[in-house]
Amino acid sequence: MRAVCWKGTNKVEVDNVPDPKILNPRDAIVKITSTAICGSDLHLYDGFNPTMKSGDILGHEFMGEIVELGSGVKEGNERNNGQPLAVGDRVVVPFTISCGSCFFCQRTLWSLCDNSNPNAWMAEKLMGHSPSGLFGYSHLTGGYAGGQAEYARVPFADVGLFKIPDELTDEQVLFLTDIFPTGYMAAENCNIQPGDTVAVWGCGPVGQFGIRSAFLLGAERVIAIDRVPERLQMAKEGGAEVLNFEEVEVGDALKEMTSGRGPDSVMDAVGMEAHGMGLEGIYDKVKQAVRLETDRPNVLRQAIVACRKGGTVSVPGVYTGFVDKIPMGAFMNKGLTMKTGQTHVHRYLRPLTDLIQQGKIDPSFLITHRLPLEQAPHAYEIFKHKQDNCVKVVLKPGQAAV
Ligand code: NAD
Ligand code: ZN
Repeated sequence: MRAVCWKGTNKVEVDNVPDPKILNPRDAIVKITSTAICGSDLHLYDGFNPTMKSGDILGHEFMGEIVELGSGVKEGNERNNGQPLAVGDRVVVPFTISCGSCFFCQRTLWSLCDNSNPNAWMAEKLMGHSPSGLFGYSHLTGGYAGGQAEYARVPFADVGLFKIPDELTDEQVLFLTDIFPTGYMAAENCNIQPGDTVAVWGCGPVGQFGIRSAFLLGAERVIAIDRVPERLQMAKEGGAEVLNFEEVEVGDALKEMTSGRGPDSVMDAVGMEAHGMGLEGIYDKVKQAVRLETDRPNVLRQAIVACRKGGTVSVPGVYTGFVDKIPMGAFMNKGLTMKTGQTHVHRYLRPLTDLIQQGKIDPSFLITHRLPLEQAPHAYEIFKHKQDNCVKVVLKPGQAAV
């Protein structure tokens, strides 16, 4: 089959690779119809994960049709209304791999599954404990082949695969795999109360869903921060007031817009590759380059300082290692709460599908580019550099290159 393979920093290629096979009784093989590139893939593309190997298949936002089921995939689950899976079913695949029965899965902490990362020892060395396995996301989280490909093997298929109602298109449901639940959980993590103002850093795909989810959960105002004009425009269309961080001092502007009190909650939808301004920006780039810190926490610092006293800091943005100069004094003395994590995707599949079916949101608003899988190298470049007004690319396996 054809698959998008990581070949080193800033290099991906579409290669011929062996077709995936059923390895365990609870596996399924999915023929992929739509697959997207995520901001998280950019951290791998940019070379920030030392556990990537040349040839690894990327991709964790994919959906398609079941073409083969292992002998152990029998039980239905409540997300599928108890119906067991069958060959031919149209399904979305959560990016987090979960066994469904460990301590964490039982508590719906799906992204913390104890049984799905065969390389847990690597993560334990770095973090004390391991998160769940993830598709296409380095050897630290399992070394699973990803879904920017024609086919993928899905472990614990009976737990993860989510059947899609026929009337919904791929484009309406594809983002259930990751970024819609991620934006939604990030907004839930903001602990929004009626009348609240939420500030969202980053108007990429995660920020866009964070903004819309904050409104769905009752926020009165959302203030969105970025510097890319078309992303700010999309945020505005989602109802947000916007700030361009290259044009204003964000902390001052937020204070002014909230009568000096600060936003009730703040969301870092940027993560470890935040763009820093001025001397602070240079400081982090240099420290990262010489490996004195692994991640650049410019947004996290700004968000903690901007948040009102007693407020909540929600961090969907991905961090992988260590950061420097987090204003812990501000965090403690202002009595803030922080909530974060890889998304518990399974928890949101049914409720967010209901919102789509009720017409409360149509996630396809985000898609700016639809390209054949063969054009993945170009797609990574325009998504990374925000060229050609690119906000989100959907790749179509099986479609001829143009
Ligand atoms: P993206 O790279 O498309 O978007 C990031 C945006 O942040 C860009 O528009 C960029 O211009 C903006 N930005 C950079 N520096 C900024 C600053 N100082 N202030 C304000 N904005 C700034 O990525 P995305 O797909 O939207 O993902 C965002 C983050 O969420 C990434 O770190 C990604 O890894 C993470 N993520 C987390 C989960 C999860 O489960 N928690 C899931 C998916 C993605
Ligand atoms: Zn993703």
